[in-house]
Amino acid sequence: MRLVGPPAEAPASPRARTLGAVELVPGRVRAAVLSASGRVLERAEAAYPPNARGRSEVDAALTAAAGVFAGHPPAGIGVAAAGIVDPAAGLIVEVNDVPALRGYPVCERLGALVGVPVRVEHRARLQVLGDRWFGAGRGRRTFASVSTGEVLGVGILYEGEVVAPLGGRSGAHMAVTGGDERCTCGNTGCWKTVATTRWLRARAAALGLGARADLGALVASADARARALVAEYAENLVLGLVNVQQLFAPGLFVLHGEARDGGEHFRALLEERLRRDGAGPGAEPPRVVVADTAVDDIALLGGAGLVLSHR
Ligand SMILES: [Zn+2]
Repeated sequence: MRLVGPPAEAPASPRARTLGAVELVPGRVRAAVLSASGRVLERAEAAYPPNARGRSEVDAALTAAAGVFAGHPPAGIGVAAAGIVDPAAGLIVEVNDVPALRGYPVCERLGALVGVPVRVEHRARLQVLGDRWFGAGRGRRTFASVSTGEVLGVGILYEGEVVAPLGGRSGAHMAVTGGDERCTCGNTGCWKTVATTRWLRARAAALGLGARADLGALVASADARARALVAEYAENLVLGLVNVQQLFAPGLFVLHGEARDGGEHFRALLEERLRRDGAGPGAEPPRVVVADTAVDDIALLGGAGLVLSHR
């Protein structure tokens, strides 16, 4: 994915002025029309049964959501998809527990519905393009964008291109610890087992800090155990980030999702720890920025960024 220059000025043709974005995840399709500056102008959503065997229900949901583009086709559509994606072939290879999406030709289907160019990429990788064009990564050629909370993943822009090797993933299953907790993928030691909301909640409950404690409440708590837990959670998150810094030296980490609830305290914990372990000689000292993008818009902005990246 080669990026060329800053966002173009809105062209005169109304047809080319807007950007299309679609997010396709288990059970749901979201679609939106965005302005060239990344403002969501209109959105639509449709559901399908994730356990559907055939494709007709996915087709129907896609058709319903794509109705948002009727009458004013965008310059192009970027699809942010869950699972394993083949961007060159324009299809979804597979999504766990969604048999109907195996080999689903999402670009061909949407292209036929809307009549504009369509590209697909994995949603966690794609979010880096949302930050690249519309957010804290604007104008940068190298940086990382991180999802935190229930979903963990890293998108990396390196020298202007999204790091997206075929068969690669978004980092949630990097082995970062020798622990024996079993991950949803079947392995042990995955980053996801120690750096998501699920871990934080379980640990808070085990410490007697409440079964529904969240990061914001733990940060605000005067309880020393809560402070220690927040510091441990930050360390766990950094376990993954520091490896990304070591390998790609992105310098900037834009965090989305739960990290926002941790406020400046949590952001500073992450940045200090990253600077201690992650800044090699010659590398830009790592900086952590927490984005205030609405969670529902992160993937859609990535889709719109994908369109701009190929203009
Ligand atoms: Zn795993």
